[in-house]
Amino acid sequence: MRLLLVEDSVALADELLPQLRSEGYACDWLVDGRDALAAPGVDDYDIAVLDLGLPGMGGLEVLAAWRRAGHRFPVLVLTARDRWTDRIAGLDAGADDYLGKPFHPRELALRLRALLRRSNASPAGAQLTVLGITLDETAQAICTAAGNVSLTAAEFRLLRYFMLNPGRLLSRSQLQDHVYDHASERQSNVVEVYVSKLREKLGRDAIETRRGQGYCFVGQRA
Ligand code: CA
Repeated sequence: MRLLLVEDSVALADELLPQLRSEGYACDWLVDGRDALAAPGVDDYDIAVLDLGLPGMGGLEVLAAWRRAGHRFPVLVLTARDRWTDRIAGLDAGADDYLGKPFHPRELALRLRALLRRSNASPAGAQLTVLGITLDETAQAICTAAGNVSLTAAEFRLLRYFMLNPGRLLSRSQLQDHVYDHASERQSNVVEVYVSKLREKLGRDAIETRRGQGYCFVGQRA
């Protein structure tokens, strides 16, 4: 899941980014509202965490402009100004959830998970079950009758993205964009490598290859 964090507090971003990455998000961080305005046209985001008090352009203006431009990804608004007037203005501008500072990073993680599940029509909770496969997002493991099968961080991110887009044809570059961080992890064969590792754990048929097009998560047939 590709996440955009727009936050001008370096201290808070320093605290949140490692946490969000350990939760399996590929994160981009921006400080200035004007940069945030254009960002969803450049990268395709699954979710955003947006501060309201930003240099350049306020978060509410950014949010309203994203919605006017047709960007539908869920947005969690983050701000010190947790007065009810700000909350209403945020929701009115198109926010999906709201968190007042200070907050516990774990609460942010759980709210983001709930927003992603909602936007992909899956029920909330630690376990995600899709097409016969159950993923424990807290343990980052596949649940089977015989016990949990643990996943590496890279395998977990890829499987979660597949499971939140079941039956959809996903190209290699689409998977790279949504699952892996810029620069550090983008080698050309990274998706093939992790798809084959996931097949070892899920069974060969759980992820279909569509030659020249990409991959499709089909799960386990009964
Ligand atoms: Ca701020």
